[in-house]
Amino acid sequence: MALDIRKSCSSLIILVRCFVVVVAAGCVGTHSVPQVTVSKRAQMHMGTLVTITVVSSDSSTGNVATQAGFDEIKRLEQLLSTWRSDSELSRVNAEAGRFPVKVSQETLDLVVRSLEMAQLTHGGFNIALGPAVEAWNVMDQQQIPNDKELQRLRPLVNWTHIRIDKEAGTIFLPHEGMRLDVGGIGKGYAADRAVEKMKQAGATGGVVALSGDIKTFGVLPDRKGFPVGIRHPRQEDSLLTLVELKEEAISTAGDYERFFERDGVRYHHILDPQTLLPARGCQSVTIIAKEGIVADGLDTGIFVLGPESGMALVERLSDVEAIIVDNEGKITVSSGLRHRLRVP
Ligand code: AMP
Ligand code: MG
Repeated sequence: MALDIRKSCSSLIILVRCFVVVVAAGCVGTHSVPQVTVSKRAQMHMGTLVTITVVSSDSSTGNVATQAGFDEIKRLEQLLSTWRSDSELSRVNAEAGRFPVKVSQETLDLVVRSLEMAQLTHGGFNIALGPAVEAWNVMDQQQIPNDKELQRLRPLVNWTHIRIDKEAGTIFLPHEGMRLDVGGIGKGYAADRAVEKMKQAGATGGVVALSGDIKTFGVLPDRKGFPVGIRHPRQEDSLLTLVELKEEAISTAGDYERFFERDGVRYHHILDPQTLLPARGCQSVTIIAKEGIVADGLDTGIFVLGPESGMALVERLSDVEAIIVDNEGKITVSSGLRHRLRVP
């Protein structure tokens, strides 16, 4: 599944090292000095480390905004996690081949956006891959499903069979055994939603990072945004590059996040819906977009499309940038991003 993603390492590193820092934001005459508080807290949610950084006028607003962010992520986990049998998506999966299931507008919207991502990436991104993701269960099982098993799953992973009735507010999976898996997009979506709650709670800036899925808003004091380091896919402790983000999301899909090796071959968690085997074109794909849902959906979909078609798609889209490392380690950067990268 889905949102319970156990990443063995983080792909993106937020370069804000403070826990609670109070910064003078500038002098106003000789009287008061407006202050800005920056705080950073981490908790485990959705099976991954979630870090929330908040910029606010005072620490009590910062605390309320941080809590609002974490609460929102917890709420979404209940709605979307397919580890939980009581989530809306689990109910949709349980009724596959039987009935349409009424879901909240929010779940419906997420599935509709996921189908748009599928269309955009020519099926590279595919939320109907649930049965194949389960068969591989890369971290827990470390088993390679045989051809017969993959052949059996093939008719169950066709995303064009997912039926959405917007008026009735229902989702129907017409074949028994079909299963939705929003693991490739849900954390980016959760980062978007958490940021909205933090803004409503009075935060003037911040970052929500669910492992490698990050959304920023506002700026750090005395900076133009939030600096983020992008990990090298083959050197755990070294950064490929640095980028400063402003009102943007960033998301990385990498073959080093969850994998096992057998006879010198790396088997990782991003599956090619055509072959139902781990996608082979890239080592990592980092996407920068306005919304986390777009960055997260596209990193997975473009990983599957491969470096050439993937970068061609990025260049066609507005407000989307990418860094792609292909399967030989060659790095390609989209035209709108080249001038923004800094040496680590
Ligand atoms: P990400 O790290 O964003 O690439 O998401 C990876 C997760 O998405 C996997 O752990 C699966 O749950 C799911 N997934 C794997 N392959 C695909 C795919 N081709 N399309 C959509 N979701 C996928
Ligand atoms: Mg993704």
